[in-house]
Amino acid sequence: MIPFNRPHFTGKESEYIQQAMNSGKISGDGIFTKKCHQFFEQRYSFKKVFLTTSCTDALEMASILIDIQPGDEVISPSYTFVSTVNAFVLRGAKVIFVDSSVENPNMDANKIEGLITSKTKAIITVHYAGIACDMTKIMDLANKYNLFVVEDAAHSVDSFYNGKPLGSIGHLSTFSFHETKNIISGEGGMIVINDERFSKRAEIIREKGTNRSAFFRGEVDKYGWVDIGSSFLPSDLIAAFLFAQVENIDDIQQKRKKIWNTYRNALLPLEEEGKIKLPFLPDYATNNAHMFYIVCDSLEEREKLIHHMKANDIYPAFHYLSLHKSQFYKDKHDGRELPLSDRYADCLLRLPFYYDLKDEDINKVVNSITNFYKNKVQNLLLSR
Ligand SMILES: *Cc1c(COP(=O)(O)O)cnc(C)c1O
Repeated sequence: MIPFNRPHFTGKESEYIQQAMNSGKISGDGIFTKKCHQFFEQRYSFKKVFLTTSCTDALEMASILIDIQPGDEVISPSYTFVSTVNAFVLRGAKVIFVDSSVENPNMDANKIEGLITSKTKAIITVHYAGIACDMTKIMDLANKYNLFVVEDAAHSVDSFYNGKPLGSIGHLSTFSFHETKNIISGEGGMIVINDERFSKRAEIIREKGTNRSAFFRGEVDKYGWVDIGSSFLPSDLIAAFLFAQVENIDDIQQKRKKIWNTYRNALLPLEEEGKIKLPFLPDYATNNAHMFYIVCDSLEEREKLIHHMKANDIYPAFHYLSLHKSQFYKDKHDGRELPLSDRYADCLLRLPFYYDLKDEDINKVVNSITNFYKNKVQNLLLSR
């Protein structure tokens, strides 16, 4: 069977976890957390980073940092994971959803300006599949209307917009190291502080609202409660695991890109025949091989294709449901139709994608899809 995802281990994880244990300190901000911070700050020129327990938590930190108040509005794509917006809703924000683009599931930057009001506080971008949003347009709007930009860069490690690392462009950005992402620690995340005004407060919010970090640096002689906050910092055991991954990022990325290109080349004929759509990369975006997806013609066709692939013991996965139509938010949404978001919700299908995916398995996946479309007319008729 070919599963959708399989976590990849580089081989050094348990050794580093043992080293963390030997150090005598396994709570947050130990030696491996510092190594991870240093890695990300150096490699991507991020001004300041903090590991967090998840990307969800990093987003919650971002929401506190930009001081979201009840009644504030944030603009977000509807085709995204709940965490992108939950963090802001938790602090009382109203989400104004923007539709996806025709070319790819990213927010359509041309549709943002019409949604900005005097209550708008932030634009939350999601670089779907690690492929950049139109950040020049988005940052120009943010400057014009004095808004914050938070990049939900959960998919976007080691990907770039016009040469700039994703996660380095917005005021704040958040990454995920969940086991379905490129670089993993089971659960885990990171907040990137690009606007230095937020650095000091981020450190406090992450440490339960205390100035404990300043105390450990000897800057204050006792630490206490100075702000709101929570426990957003991960154990150094998680950082030890993560460091074994980041050290091997070039190998991981090279392998994933090879798989991605193999899929693309093998499926290109189907796109040229007009049967499916493949991921679209604008000129300004790089590909970090976070996922490989195809876009089918209809929900019905996608259901049949999934059924067909499962019969071949292959387990692809559809992705988000439009958040503006979710059980939780549909009554709070302003009623606008977002047809492209719905289209990706119905028609996008993610193919099995992981470091250890073998060439022969990629072939099986491609053959299964190709055969489905060869027999598509029969498949659709038979099933009636
Ligand atoms: C995975 C993901 C998250 C959540 O990440 P966690 O680390 O699991 O909290 C948030 N946003 C997007 C777009 C994601 O894909």
